[in-house]
Amino acid sequence: MTQSEEVTTTVCIVGGGPAGMMLGVLLARSGIEVVVLEKYADFFRDFRGDTIHTSTLQMMDELGWLEAFLALRHDELQVATAMFGQTIPLADFTRLPTRCKFLAYTPQWDFLNFLAERGKRYPTFRVLMETSGTDLIEIGRASCRERV
Ligand SMILES: Cc1cc2nc3c(=O)[nH]c(=O)nc-3n(C[C@H](O)[C@H](O)[C@H](O)COP(=O)(O)OP(=O)(O)OC[C@H]3O[C@@H](n4cnc5c(N)ncnc54)[C@H](O)[C@@H]3O)c2cc1C
Repeated sequence: MTQSEEVTTTVCIVGGGPAGMMLGVLLARSGIEVVVLEKYADFFRDFRGDTIHTSTLQMMDELGWLEAFLALRHDELQVATAMFGQTIPLADFTRLPTRCKFLAYTPQWDFLNFLAERGKRYPTFRVLMETSGTDLIEIGRASCRERV
């Protein structure tokens, strides 16, 4: 059944992937009213990646989210190696000037649910699941020339 609801917001983000969810939470955290549209009913999809890089972990530390994030089930990789007849070092994360000196592996749906949970702490954040962006309506759009 198709449901219809009229929603007014300052920012509408189409797509509740890592980019859309993170942007949505950061905007809401800044007090900006935001609605994230996600066409699927949940974040549980196999094709998603599972690596959370050190720079992302660092950002979560700066946001005060790191302890809560690391409480989720995850694995940690400090040194990456490859086997080509012999073991070859590829990356040593222990040498990075970041708080977490490892890559975290966690299913992306856990990460997205985590972001959704963080976002719900802000009254200006809303995720609409099973809701697709289908078109763009432009109202009173000024051209580049007019804006100069
Ligand atoms: C197999 C694979 C493995 C990967 N592994 C890793 C990894 O380990 N670590 C890593 O950092 N990156 C990994 N990546 C890359 C990472 O998944 C992408 O960089 C990331 O998902 C991009 O995020 P995004 O939010 O821009 O887009 P997406 O993740 O593609 O999210 C887009 C979202 O928008 C929704 N959507 C699309 N159209 C509409 C619409 N019209 N209306 C509403 N919703 C819509 C989709 O359902 C989806 O949820 C991997 C990618 C793949 C394909």
